[in-house]
Amino acid sequence: MIAMISLSVIGLGLFTANHLKKSHIASLEKSMLQEIRLIDGTLSWPMDQPLSEQITFFEAETAYLKHYTGNRITFIDLDGTVLGDTHYNAWEMDNHLNRGEIMDILDDGGPGYSIRFSDTIEHNMINVAMSVERDGELIGYIRLGATLDNMETAVQQMWLTYLLGLILLLVLAAVISYLFSKSLTRPLEHITYVAQQITQANDQSRVRLTNKDEIGQLGHAINDMAVSLQLQMKRIADNEKRLMTVLENLMSGVVMINETGHIVLINKVAELILGVSVRQLNEMHYHQLKRHHIELHELVEKSMKSKARIHEEIVLHYPDERNIEMSLVPIEEYNDENWTGIVIVLHDITNIRRLERVRSEFVANVSHELKTPIASVKGFSETLLDGAVNDPETAHSFLKIIYDESERLDRLIMDLLDLSKIESKRIQLDFSPIEMEELVEKTVHSMQTEAQKKQIQFDIEVPPGLYIEADEDRLRQVFINLLSNGINYTPPGGKVSIRIDESANDRKDDSDNWAQSYIDIQITDTGIGVPKKDLPRIFERFYRVDKARSRRSGGTGLGLSIVKHIVDLHNGEMTVTSEVGVGTTFIIRLPVIQF
Ligand code: ADP
Repeated sequence: MIAMISLSVIGLGLFTANHLKKSHIASLEKSMLQEIRLIDGTLSWPMDQPLSEQITFFEAETAYLKHYTGNRITFIDLDGTVLGDTHYNAWEMDNHLNRGEIMDILDDGGPGYSIRFSDTIEHNMINVAMSVERDGELIGYIRLGATLDNMETAVQQMWLTYLLGLILLLVLAAVISYLFSKSLTRPLEHITYVAQQITQANDQSRVRLTNKDEIGQLGHAINDMAVSLQLQMKRIADNEKRLMTVLENLMSGVVMINETGHIVLINKVAELILGVSVRQLNEMHYHQLKRHHIELHELVEKSMKSKARIHEEIVLHYPDERNIEMSLVPIEEYNDENWTGIVIVLHDITNIRRLERVRSEFVANVSHELKTPIASVKGFSETLLDGAVNDPETAHSFLKIIYDESERLDRLIMDLLDLSKIESKRIQLDFSPIEMEELVEKTVHSMQTEAQKKQIQFDIEVPPGLYIEADEDRLRQVFINLLSNGINYTPPGGKVSIRIDESANDRKDDSDNWAQSYIDIQITDTGIGVPKKDLPRIFERFYRVDKARSRRSGGTGLGLSIVKHIVDLHNGEMTVTSEVGVGTTFIIRLPVIQF
């Protein structure tokens, strides 16, 4: 566009300059011709005189004419000799027959014209010449030369005007086109910017345009698109959040492997079970599971290859030993046979398996515990039947053994029933306020005979008026079990002491900052003590440090387990410290109020 304007202006300039030149030259030629005619008309050419005379004459004539015209006037002889010149010494000038304007006359007889650069004057000159006749005879030529300076200046000025105009036009055009493009491109730039923002998930970004044209409509369309995108993104995010909440709160571990074998999803439980972390994962390939989980890796491989469901129980050894029931399910896309990977669901059944093991061990233990007294009852009664009954002394001692063993059986069965009730939480605790001093004194009183038999002293230190909320029968059972252990495992002459204190440090309740009060029950004996290695196990069912001793003292191996369970049911805590040969201390911390 700008190039076209420039070309047109230059074209127009060329045309005008040409026209200007032509018309200027034409009018110049015309006026010069008139001037020549005027000179010719007033001049008496001395053609009969010798050449030198003629030159002198024309020298004078040119000197005179020079005052009245700015043009150069030259008088030339028929043979080309210059007779006079307003601007130059005629004597020194060369022959002029070869000058364009003279040759022009020689050509057609009419006036001759030529334009050329004059070395003499150093200007572009227009020369007009005319033949001079006297009495119908050709006698010479008059030539008029004028500089084209005026015309050239006019053309230059015209060019200057045109160029200035062109520059102004170009500047104007540039400004207008800049403003125009700005008004068109700025909204488009804005729309492009908003679109980029939306692409970069900045879905709050909106086009702010008031244009009513197509650009305005485009802006509206982009805004509508952003709103619908925002809605869809929200929907997707909500769904994802819901899915993640479900996954994270599942009791089972979930792992998803895509068709290329990369782990694309794993929940917290699965992370815990497999001992990997999401950060560590970062699209980890299932082959990397091989390092710690060879068996699992094999199953995944099998399922990936066969694309069939697999349900199996395996034992993982890392990070802990766990029994895991796992299902590997190939995922097929909805309504499509396309296979897109597998989902692995992991159930940690370690506890179930452990409980099963404990239960079967328990059954084995119970059978063993029952077998011993029954075997001796059976053995001694057989011996009695076989004749020993006739020996009163033997019979008496045998019957005593049978009696003791059946007592033991009775105690064992009672303890077992108790334990099973407490463990299965079938018993309903009957909480009521209990005055500790009274309870301790009554219990100690009931055990006095037993203690005296072994010359064991009780030492009681219980503040009067101390109440706690507890199930009285169960709490009594705790005291009986611990005190009878104290008596059983303390050599004659020893001491069993009972101390109860209000706990010094009241603890805060986790949930509502309610300050809970506790009491500490401390039962200490000066007995044989428990070796350090056995201490953590003495609360297990049937665990005894010295089997023979326990049996001799009539123990069932269940007393401490029952105590532990009762303390747990009262939301209490129990600890034990012991030193072999010095004694043992059991400390039970119980809440004053049950919530
Ligand atoms: P038992 O009927 O054998 O006493 P318990 O469950 O009451 O069974 O105790 C488990 C084991 O803990 C006992 O066999 C004994 O080895 C040890 N034990 C319990 N109380 C004491 C104590 N006061 N001093 C030393 N050892 C004890």
